[in-house]
Amino acid sequence: MTVLITGGAGYIGSHMVLDLVARGETPIVLDDLSTGFGWLLPDGVPLVIGDMADTALVQRLIAAHNIDAIAHFAAKIVVPDSVSDPLGYYESNTSKARTLIDTAIKSGIKRFIFSSTAAVYGEPDEMPVSETTRPMPVSPYGRSKLMVEWMLEDARHAHGLETMVLRYFNVAGADPMARSGQATPRATHLIKVACEAATGKRDAMSVFGTDYATRDGTCIRDYIHVSDLAAAHTLALDHLRAGKPGMTLNCAYGHGASVLEVIAAVKRVSGVDFPVHYAPRRAGDPPEIVAKGDQIKTALGWAPRFDDLDVIVQHALAFEAKLATRA
Ligand code: UDP
Repeated sequence: MTVLITGGAGYIGSHMVLDLVARGETPIVLDDLSTGFGWLLPDGVPLVIGDMADTALVQRLIAAHNIDAIAHFAAKIVVPDSVSDPLGYYESNTSKARTLIDTAIKSGIKRFIFSSTAAVYGEPDEMPVSETTRPMPVSPYGRSKLMVEWMLEDARHAHGLETMVLRYFNVAGADPMARSGQATPRATHLIKVACEAATGKRDAMSVFGTDYATRDGTCIRDYIHVSDLAAAHTLALDHLRAGKPGMTLNCAYGHGASVLEVIAAVKRVSGVDFPVHYAPRRAGDPPEIVAKGDQIKTALGWAPRFDDLDVIVQHALAFEAKLATRA
């Protein structure tokens, strides 16, 4: 049995590859390398450079490699870009996913793991967010993912495609051995940006908004270590392989850190006191997004190993140092 991983050369997909390889599986990666990097993959893992909506290619891979499950990571993920290019996002994240799901069903695949996002909740009325909180996405990105969740729900009823929908909160950090991490240029995510400031890749960074109704006036997010997130995917795969029904699960620790707390952690762990500017709010940022975070533990037996902001930052910094040696 082999897993086909779309977007497996990207940040999160490559960590699932590492997790599978660590337990003796050899997945097949399908990636167009638009934002991924072949060097994030361990030796011996086949990388097929191509499009997930290339039906003939995907059919060939499924037939040739005894594929029993698809983990679908390939997507565009920058929320502000989705606002300026909604149709591009609906094409990549929704239309191409539809084609991939169709190909999977016609090729007899019964197990599907889908990378969804906390962005499907939009600006929720209740906090913390649970899986039963009503999704009301406010960005094309969130909508592009929620539509796929709906397609998968319908495909399950009609065709028996069992799906694990994993809704990621704020993914951060890097592989503890620095084999993979966030390598995409022009990063916008807080921990990556702060680590770039700490390692001198940027002169300073900005805090977007200090007047939110939170404990220190800055936004609060539920940061999850990418290796713990990858482990959740492997457990989701085991769950489906055991013949259990698909589920929708939030992937988060269930507690949040503010922007200022993150910056303090990066300064503490790196020992670098980089300049920080206080800037106005960034459009569309909700004050707080924190998950309830218990359901995934119960459902999958998920036991996070890196639920510690300083550890997340330490691993992110180590990967930044590795990236610097490649530049
Ligand atoms: N943020 C910030 N400075 C930055 C990048 C992000 O103050 O350079 C803030 C951002 O406004 C938000 C939080 O950090 O309140 C998390 O943002 P990120 O882009 O990492 O993730 P998001 O929650 O938007 O998906």
